[in-house]
Amino acid sequence: MRIKTRQIDSFTPGKTNTNSAASLQKPQATNPIIIDSKPSLHKAEDCELSDRVSLTNAVFAGTDNGLIKTTETVFFDIERFALHLELYRYFHISEDPMDIDDIVPSTCLNLPETHTVGPKQIAQQTGLTSYTSSLVSKKKRTTAGHQVMEAEELLSGCSIHQSTTAEELDRNYQEHEQCRESVRSFYYSNNQCKRRRHLELSKKKAHKRIAAAEREASGFKEGGKALVMFVGDRGHGVGSRIKGHQRFGGTWKQEIHGRYTPTVITNEYNSSQTCLFCFRKLSHPLKTIGDKVKTTNGSFICINDKCPNAFKVVCRDQVSALAIGLAGLASILFGVTFPCFDQQPCHFKRQQFNDLALSFWEQKQQQA
Ligand SMILES: [Zn+2]
Repeated sequence: MRIKTRQIDSFTPGKTNTNSAASLQKPQATNPIIIDSKPSLHKAEDCELSDRVSLTNAVFAGTDNGLIKTTETVFFDIERFALHLELYRYFHISEDPMDIDDIVPSTCLNLPETHTVGPKQIAQQTGLTSYTSSLVSKKKRTTAGHQVMEAEELLSGCSIHQSTTAEELDRNYQEHEQCRESVRSFYYSNNQCKRRRHLELSKKKAHKRIAAAEREASGFKEGGKALVMFVGDRGHGVGSRIKGHQRFGGTWKQEIHGRYTPTVITNEYNSSQTCLFCFRKLSHPLKTIGDKVKTTNGSFICINDKCPNAFKVVCRDQVSALAIGLAGLASILFGVTFPCFDQQPCHFKRQQFNDLALSFWEQKQQQA
């Protein structure tokens, strides 16, 4: 393991990171990939943030993948990261007598607004909605469509895979053979094939548009800032067995982002179940319906009474997206992430993180 010293950014807005007195002792894997303002797509564990990237002049984004909401993204700045790092210090390193209200201004208690991309929006923008509706209306209007509907109705009752005897299989197979021609001529007509090719092409264009709109929502262009994106590595929903949702998840969006801006894939471990104000485990809120008690799975609540955000219901995806951003930024800044987000925590890593968090904080105090 190589030990590297790195000077962290100045905290005073507008200044660059040339005159910071303290420096960080930072553990790193051998030959880390240096993240600067160039477009790239790498895993957080392999990366290190370049000294040339000014932290005060950068926007960070955390993205959580899901099934119901395809992706949910929050944007935050280094001040937000510093706030959560200070809260971590207060609750887990040294609980000094400083009042918690001095650390957290009441405006910061609300989590940042999110930019959501949902399956409905993707279906509309890619042209899938109009493709499906035209197919459905064609089925209802034309004679060929009526034939196909009848054939599908018939075939749904004679499954080849669920036949129990050889005779039944034979009978079902013959039914399939008879319906084959009408089904094929409807779905694979020249016109239909052309529409499908067109759909494939418009899908690619729409994906780029959706990703561009997400990057634009960060406002990095107007501020002339650098944008670093952190994307969670789980929950793309591709192999999920939950029914009733269109699946548009996958790695396409992070790959497109990787062509335009530094994109870092972050481990999502514990990201949706940790309170970002006291770094303890969150609980699901309970509600009573009649004489039954039910848990609400889409939201969380912190029940640590010392926590500044205690007993307030927070949205699961919002917490998760910000946690991914914070964990990823800590990982590329310090080389270790918050111990609560580390999948394989150990005493050594915890100590390293605490030391680095303290020196980061001290540097901030000096510059304040
Ligand atoms: Zn809490």
